[in-house]
Amino acid sequence: MEHTVVRCAEGHVFSTASFPMQKAERLGPGRLVRCPRCARLRSVVPVALEKR
Ligand SMILES: [Zn+2]
Repeated sequence: MEHTVVRCAEGHVFSTASFPMQKAERLGPGRLVRCPRCARLRSVVPVALEKR
């Protein structure tokens, strides 16, 4: 399974394996993913791997 690097609304960058890419076009650029630093669901956007 491939991980996707994302950034939450608070600026935390982390990787997730549960990024629902198939629904990205329907729901817009933001996804709700549990941020390990916020410890809650955050709206996140994908980050280019080379930007880490
Ligand atoms: Zn966060």
